[in-house]
Amino acid sequence: MIVLSGAELVLPDRILTPGTLAIENGRIADIRPGGAQGRMPSGHSPSLFAFHGHYIVPGFIDVHVHGVDGFDSLDGNTAVRSIAARLPRYGVTAFCPTTVACAPDALRLVLDQVRSARETADPRSARVLPAHLESNFINPEYRGAQPMGCLRSPRAALDGETGAGRAGASGRAGKTGEFAASDILREIERAAPDVGIVTLAPELEGGLDLVRWVLARGPRVSLGHSNATYDEALAAIAAGARHATHLFNRMPPLGHRAPGLAGAILQTDEVAAELICDGFHVHPAIVRMAIAAKRPSRVLAITDGTAASGLPVGRRARLGGQPITVGESAAFLDDGTLAGSVLTMDRAFQGLVGRIGLSPVDAATLCSTTPARELGLVGHGVLAPDAVADLVVLDAQFSVVQTYIAGQLAYSRT
Ligand SMILES: [Zn+2]
Repeated sequence: MIVLSGAELVLPDRILTPGTLAIENGRIADIRPGGAQGRMPSGHSPSLFAFHGHYIVPGFIDVHVHGVDGFDSLDGNTAVRSIAARLPRYGVTAFCPTTVACAPDALRLVLDQVRSARETADPRSARVLPAHLESNFINPEYRGAQPMGCLRSPRAALDGETGAGRAGASGRAGKTGEFAASDILREIERAAPDVGIVTLAPELEGGLDLVRWVLARGPRVSLGHSNATYDEALAAIAAGARHATHLFNRMPPLGHRAPGLAGAILQTDEVAAELICDGFHVHPAIVRMAIAAKRPSRVLAITDGTAASGLPVGRRARLGGQPITVGESAAFLDDGTLAGSVLTMDRAFQGLVGRIGLSPVDAATLCSTTPARELGLVGHGVLAPDAVADLVVLDAQFSVVQTYIAGQLAYSRT
């Protein structure tokens, strides 16, 4: 048994201060008020850590992260395991490895790694969840840093037109190549349980049919990288889309006479929205408004982190094979295109409490509870008796001191 004593325990509805939490057999065995030892279930001598002045929160769950510390999910080899090994130092206990639009063979390599890491997890590594595909079926006008040569039409994919349906000219990235739109669907179908979220633009020709096709195979559909009108967005939600990819980024701005995709997401309770909480991708005022409109239970804090996350400014890294550079506030392609963030989940939590002004309870809801519930991870994302012991100890400045995964110490700052 491990006993974490005397900390501020961030429970789903309040902070227990001070409180003591016991871990046994990978689960939270007990949560009690007070900091005294010796009042916990006994039987064998516990390892006791005194954490007065510290916070304990449920482990962060990042459903949109491409990489960290120089590793990109599309690097091949053991990239997914390398990312999983590094994320606990940022308080992440589970994550969806996230891809940009890529060729089918590159996608297969990632999804094979996801399957392997889910079947046999490495010790002291974040849990690998089913992947998030920022897919080939996004709007070319709103592609951001995604390679144009990899984009395809949903209609062409569903019709299985070999070699047809190119959504754009060949891109400048190396790994684009020639492939049929339907080849991507074949990879998704083959790996279905290891695909958690598919981001697509529903306004593309065949987009709504693709929403239904994806849902029929299990993954969640996320609306994003899209120019969908309000009505087109509502049609996609009616077809079953329940997730939105980085609300406000790579979609037209909210207008009071043209609510568009952003307006449809904000007003629709069924849709949970990702927000990049780095203070740069979305202005803090808009973050506050979005959280107020949707409430913390419908918002997922994400990093959209890249291999550039965790590296010093000026360092080079990759995103889906394309070179990117670490900037002060984000990562950028060589032509200056914004290419994801340099954010990590510990700093997302710090920003939500500091810059945005949320309570630690609401910040933990965005960083842990909502993502766990949306992904159907029962017993995850909360500090509660019998919940899975995935949790993070933060100091008074909300920096990570320890990270536990299934009750095992996965990271310790000292
Ligand atoms: Zn992304």
